[in-house]
Amino acid sequence: MSKLFGTDGVRGIVGKELIPQFITKFALAVGAFFNEGARILVGMDNRGGNEAIKRIIEGTLILSGLKVYDAGLTPTPALQYVVKTEGFDGGIMITASHNPPEYSGIKVIGPHGIEVDRDEERIIEKYFWEEKYRIVSWRSAAEKVVKYPFVNDLYIDSIVSKVDVGKISRRGFKVLVDPANNVGALTTPKILKKLGVKPIVVNGNLDVEPARYPEPTPDNLLETAKLVPQYGCTLGIAHDGDADRAILIDEKGRIHWGDRTAVLLAKHLVVNRGERGRVYTGVSSSTIIENVLKQLNIEVVWLKVGSVDIAHAMRKAGDALCGFEENGGFMYPPHQYVRDGGITTALFLEYLATEAKNASELFDELPFYHTIKTKYKMSRDLALIVVEKVKEEFRNERLITIDGVKVISNDYWLLVRPSGTEPLLRVMIEARDEEVAKQLLERIDRLVNEVVNK
Ligand code: MG
Repeated sequence: MSKLFGTDGVRGIVGKELIPQFITKFALAVGAFFNEGARILVGMDNRGGNEAIKRIIEGTLILSGLKVYDAGLTPTPALQYVVKTEGFDGGIMITASHNPPEYSGIKVIGPHGIEVDRDEERIIEKYFWEEKYRIVSWRSAAEKVVKYPFVNDLYIDSIVSKVDVGKISRRGFKVLVDPANNVGALTTPKILKKLGVKPIVVNGNLDVEPARYPEPTPDNLLETAKLVPQYGCTLGIAHDGDADRAILIDEKGRIHWGDRTAVLLAKHLVVNRGERGRVYTGVSSSTIIENVLKQLNIEVVWLKVGSVDIAHAMRKAGDALCGFEENGGFMYPPHQYVRDGGITTALFLEYLATEAKNASELFDELPFYHTIKTKYKMSRDLALIVVEKVKEEFRNERLITIDGVKVISNDYWLLVRPSGTEPLLRVMIEARDEEVAKQLLERIDRLVNEVVNK
């Protein structure tokens, strides 16, 4: 049975993979997955084709016997928060998150506000392939789509209520926001205003094609980063398309990867907010988190790469301080278990206000590691053989083997894992010393050559 779901939801190019036939079948499978009469909140981000996709989904869900509520344009974390807090049985978010503009996608949300788990994805796929649908008669099909335009306001208010507004507003912060011409423009500037922060918005117009690629990577944010010092801003925030990710730019215009931001936020939660718990993250995150949190007696739980799995693991364990991904997805359980660009922004501003230091000074307090990220084209089978060789090569070091192999030593760490979606072996290396990082790459190169050129 082929998989429809990727790492987070179903994705495809609009008009190519995402065509009415597919969308209808998928929505019928989702309709059958939920109980008859279930209340489902549907939202979307601002991608070409999303309005059309939404109408197909909403109509199909009504014919499947569900009660459909339409949130309109909204960030994924806003929809998730409102599904959880307003008693919905589930949600549908139409978005391709950080993918290029021609893509869209469908995320299916459970009543807890988290994307359905892997077992539930299998059930929806089974219904899809076996065409196991529920179609109701004309009386039930007379239900109308109920407009539900409160989602963004409920979300904004909830975030503002979680931080010390007085402390933040006294500082007179000015923050640059780049929502990639997408739904973050509807919430993050409003959150800032309510926190007494002056927002400067770039790429905030939803009526034009996105001015930059939706993924907030250092390469895509070069222009945005320059503007932060130019406008004299305290901080810059760049979201992906559906605003569940936030990448921070300091006042000097330096872009910081999400795992370094998460280390600072975790420290803030413990030291300044007196919160306790374990930190959950994927093996692709930097081990700097362990070095810093060890001193505070906070344990890190290493998991497979994938935010959905991290969110479910935190909910199940019930002992999480926070969770994160290195790509800028930060999760704060007292708000919700999922990635949330809004709460990330608010908590970081509270940290800045508490420490009375510049963002660049806070980031510079973290240990510096040289990073190498690379990938090798090969089948999953060959990639798994390389992983075994790496385990053997580094057998005297601490190994984490839940997703490829992560090697953790005193002055370096590395991760070698097969990609979840493409025929690739992904390699990440971080070392305090640049030479050490290069030598580690040579060792991995040698192991790869032994497998590929045999
Ligand atoms: Mg996203």
